[in-house]
Amino acid sequence: MDWPGLKARLLSQGTIRLSGEPAGPYRSSSTAGPGAGSGGSVFFSTGRGRVRLAIDPESSLELVHLGSGRAILNDCGTEITGMLEKVALHCPRQAYITVTSGCVFRCRYCEVPAITAGRKTPREIEAMVESVKDRIDSIALTSGVLASIEEEEEYVLSVVKRLQRFSLPIGVSIFPGENTAGRLHAAGVAEVKFNVEAATRDLFTIMCPGLPYEAVWNALQRSVELFGKDHVFSNLIIGLGESDGEAESCISALCAIGVIPVLRPLNPAGALAGYSRPPAERLLRLYTFHTDALSAAGLNPAHARTMCVECTGCDLVPGRDALI
Ligand code: SF4
Repeated sequence: MDWPGLKARLLSQGTIRLSGEPAGPYRSSSTAGPGAGSGGSVFFSTGRGRVRLAIDPESSLELVHLGSGRAILNDCGTEITGMLEKVALHCPRQAYITVTSGCVFRCRYCEVPAITAGRKTPREIEAMVESVKDRIDSIALTSGVLASIEEEEEYVLSVVKRLQRFSLPIGVSIFPGENTAGRLHAAGVAEVKFNVEAATRDLFTIMCPGLPYEAVWNALQRSVELFGKDHVFSNLIIGLGESDGEAESCISALCAIGVIPVLRPLNPAGALAGYSRPPAERLLRLYTFHTDALSAAGLNPAHARTMCVECTGCDLVPGRDALI
């Protein structure tokens, strides 16, 4: 099976129509990641890899649940057999928790600011992890910004402290301030993801008004020194208006400092609802470049333990999505 080709087509479409047996235990509704706040999604996996698809009754792709997680995807007349995976919190095998819903910033592609602001207490988060601790391998935290970048960091650190008792690797993805990498490392966090989001500074400035571009790159550079290669990640959204050349330059720049880029297909939402998802051919082209760039830099996503590189649901991930 050409899994990368199939996954690229699925990611480009983004949705499936779910039919067959009730799939309640396999449905995820989430306040983080693509499709945040939407009608839910499922994780379909084959022996080659996993993909997350938003459930949409109008989708042209159909996924038939046969019962007990067994499922068949109809791909242009070819039936692909696989499984629906049970979700722990947000995704399979992880407790991936949004600490603060809502955000004071207004990144144009993001749905989180539209979600009613709310913050889970450290005690609530601890109870959430406790409830799934027998079916997870790691914990991940992400967060909007309730008041300020500094205040959010302080709050997330208090949550990390509370979660250390589970003795699981913890990944954190928040907007970084000057000392965020050092403080998270000192708190025992295993991996970090600070997102450059856009391929160029100009695009970042348009897409993320008010957020400092340099802060992300500085934090990434410092993080590699602390967390080591293969444990620092950065989302690069594909489909914001960047050229392939600009995306490739950004991928190369991240790899050059030891950061694993996460190529995230745009989910047209928020102020970008009129945009399109990137076509499958483009995702595959960039996947090939991404694979070569990681290899040249000696980076291996298979070593990741938390967050999106471990999950792989929303992106093509070299070294994890099988090549044959
Ligand atoms: S790839 Fe990341 S955003 Fe997507 S489902 Fe997995 S953990 Fe969530």
